[in-house]
Amino acid sequence: MKETHFDIIIVGSGVGGLSTLRYITESEIFKSKNVKIALISKSDLNITNTDWAQGGIAAVKSIQDNFEKHIEDTIIAGAHENDAYVVRKVIASGPSIMNDLIRWKIHLDKIDDEFDLVKEGGHSEARIWHWKDQTGHALQNCLLNDLNNQPEIKIFEHICIVQCQKDKEDVFHIQSISTKNEDLSEFTAPILILATGGIGCLYEKTTNQYISTCDGIAIANQLGATIQDFSYVQFHPTGLYHEGQVSFLISEALRGAGAELKNKYMESFMSGYDKRGSLAPRDVVSRAILAEMQKTSEPFVFLDTTLIPEDYFHTHFPFIIAHCKKKLNIDPSQNPIPVAPVQHYSCGGIKVDEHGETNIPGLFAVGEVACTGLHGANRLASNSLLEAVVFGKFISEKITKNYSYPTNKPKPFIFDAMKLKNLNRTKIQALMSKYASVVRSNEGMRMCLKELLEMQSSSTISESVNLEVVENNNLLQAAIILIKDAINKPSNKGTHYNVDLA
Ligand SMILES: Cc1cc2nc3c(=O)[nH]c(=O)nc-3n(C[C@H](O)[C@H](O)[C@H](O)COP(=O)(O)OP(=O)(O)OC[C@H]3O[C@@H](n4cnc5c(N)ncnc54)[C@H](O)[C@@H]3O)c2cc1C
Repeated sequence: MKETHFDIIIVGSGVGGLSTLRYITESEIFKSKNVKIALISKSDLNITNTDWAQGGIAAVKSIQDNFEKHIEDTIIAGAHENDAYVVRKVIASGPSIMNDLIRWKIHLDKIDDEFDLVKEGGHSEARIWHWKDQTGHALQNCLLNDLNNQPEIKIFEHICIVQCQKDKEDVFHIQSISTKNEDLSEFTAPILILATGGIGCLYEKTTNQYISTCDGIAIANQLGATIQDFSYVQFHPTGLYHEGQVSFLISEALRGAGAELKNKYMESFMSGYDKRGSLAPRDVVSRAILAEMQKTSEPFVFLDTTLIPEDYFHTHFPFIIAHCKKKLNIDPSQNPIPVAPVQHYSCGGIKVDEHGETNIPGLFAVGEVACTGLHGANRLASNSLLEAVVFGKFISEKITKNYSYPTNKPKPFIFDAMKLKNLNRTKIQALMSKYASVVRSNEGMRMCLKELLEMQSSSTISESVNLEVVENNNLLQAAIILIKDAINKPSNKGTHYNVDLA
């Protein structure tokens, strides 16, 4: 019979889920007590935002850098809304988690036997560890290594968790569907770790993978977990603009390497908005680009990549060069590229404590779905991969220290009936893109909430449970949480910018 009861269930196979898994499997308790773990992902294991991360992982190494500088950069980017204790704890863990990744054989670029650290927007020092412009791919591969050789870990691909309830014995009961044939199945465990990633599909234009549909947020919300600062949505200033579409990310590292933002007259404009110029934090740059787009009536601005020394460009950014050639038929080392802001990262999410646990005992969240307090109102570039690995370690430490294994299979459980609605994803995305984007207004946000609530109450009940229906319901639930949070923000901080509070 198929095994369905586990000691630990991890939902998500990106950096959050996999690094937590790796740290747990290295623990003494895992080795000695036959701890059973399920790893669930709703697509192939490597279809993650992690796999698409370009720039790198921020961690202090060089002698001119120090923790205080990284802490200060993080807090400035986060508009002082960060949890200072968490910021210090995460940043101080940077060197040790880089050692772990190196021990796990991650590929990282080196020059003359020294790691090649680069600078990105908002960082005062070169502290970004990277592998060309595909660091996420290197990280994903390193964390997936050897996974199949561990009999205590059961891997479930193409399984989407749909709903979760906790019984009287504090066991989580999870209902899921196969994304291949829509078969329903059930999993149980006393410990549930949500590592379900970003929220990009809430918007029309995003850098995120198609799996980013807010499922973890909806499940945590239904369980009664606190969702914090969900309206702090980071828009990346430089998505590649192509035939009205923006989705492919042009990494900040290009601006770190000398590329400059220019308007259609090829005039540099960033210094008029912020003294840090093209390397100002992402929210500042995104708003400046939008203002410039409005002034010039163009749907994009240019990133002048010809300013990057050609050799450096080719060795550090081969993936971006290849993509620009394929999509636009231009060589960005010779021509500036059109860019526009695009939804990129969720700074808020499921609130967790310094061990990665939510207010629901046994429920943990890690990676982009979690709100740890590190990012505050805006994430500093390359701090998210760092945060996910560090919190993977913290969660593992908490779980392996305080819990007893193995656990008994729970009694049969009857789930509440699912009341999924027939919803129009395009409409949710249009509303969010119009009213909950880089620049917001009181009237727009209120209108958006009214329409979302109207959609929730007037839509018909779905006859079937399939992936599309489940995801759309999660998106609507998340959209409502986000817009309510945005309406309640008393002032403009970081990524939240309401013209009526300016
Ligand atoms: C293009 C791009 C470039 C980036 N560059 C950088 C960078 O250079 N540096 C940096 O620090 N950050 C970067 N980021 C951000 C960073 O990559 C992400 O925040 C991080 O990888 C998220 O990891 P995660 O483990 O939380 O989620 P993901 O890696 O997205 O993984 C989510 C997992 O959850 C699973 N899942 C979701 N819902 C369900 C469900 N209902 N049931 C089962 N499984 C589910 C998915 O199948 C997937 O396995 C970038 C992001 C993007 C999109």
